[in-house]
Amino acid sequence: MALHLSHARRQRSSDLYPVQTWLARLLARFGAPGAARGRLTILMYHRVLAVADPMRPHDITAPTFDEQMGALARVFNVLPLSEALTRLAAGTLPERSACITFDDGYRDNVAIALPILQRLRLPATFYVTSGVLGDGRMFNDTVIEALREAPAGPLDLTWLGLPPTIVSDMASRAAIAQRVIAHLKYVALPVRDEVCARMARLDGHALPTDLMMTPEHVTLIDRAGMEIGGHTTDHVMLTAVSMNEARRQIEGNRRDLAALTASPPRHFAYPNGRPEMDFDDDHVRIVREAGYQSAVTTAWGQAMRDDDVFRLSRCGTFDVGPGRFATRLLLHGRARDRHAPMAD
Ligand SMILES: [Zn+2]
Repeated sequence: MALHLSHARRQRSSDLYPVQTWLARLLARFGAPGAARGRLTILMYHRVLAVADPMRPHDITAPTFDEQMGALARVFNVLPLSEALTRLAAGTLPERSACITFDDGYRDNVAIALPILQRLRLPATFYVTSGVLGDGRMFNDTVIEALREAPAGPLDLTWLGLPPTIVSDMASRAAIAQRVIAHLKYVALPVRDEVCARMARLDGHALPTDLMMTPEHVTLIDRAGMEIGGHTTDHVMLTAVSMNEARRQIEGNRRDLAALTASPPRHFAYPNGRPEMDFDDDHVRIVREAGYQSAVTTAWGQAMRDDDVFRLSRCGTFDVGPGRFATRLLLHGRARDRHAPMAD
């Protein structure tokens, strides 16, 4: 139904598309030049939802993703990340170049995003958290899903070091979930696991076990010609764990993914991804030593020829229509040193 409505909206506005596309391509020639002055736009996605979810107000829905990919295909030259980085370094990047990336390894990337990408013949890179493949859950999803069904009324979070609160409508549940997630991002892994186990008991129902890709999905994506990248084993903030643990998370993740793909992953995404806050020079060195050829962050901006290929900026994506989407990409690609509001 949602896809049908999206299609109808496209049909209604189709007479505007040639002008919009021409204008966007013109802007893109200046906003994303090629050759020696090349600027590469690397888009960052996480989940692609079948329908809007008030517990996940920042996640894109299938119809909007479809529109954004359509706009991207019309305005940009979408390249595989490996090719784009090689050409950026060589000074042969086509103008209006873009790459598509997904973080975390959600199953909806396979069920919803992949068919759209394949229909439009767009390559993409999927950075996968290997420790939750199959029936696992990202810690943020445990918190979100527990609060979605938690009984209404007072909720004691003092055991977490947070003030007590009241669970009521969906907006309050979403807000509480975001506070708990922000709190958990930088705690030690065993503490995070213990809190998640306790959060899971808030709700009498079983929490979903089908949110993440299976190992077979990773193989399927690889065989479909898309790229699989690393994202650590347990989605830890690298600055919050010891160097030994950081190395174990980075190398173990790459080894586990390599067992599912034709060749070892070449690209990495730092969890949460904010330079100096979520990773530093030591982690960059470990990622390089692990055998990776590039790494992306959640700092906003385009990747440029002189950039450190292990600190590549990306462009966050917003829930807006296709024309504004293309324009916004170009404008905010120019803004450096900012961060995605919901980085993970
Ligand atoms: Zn992530």
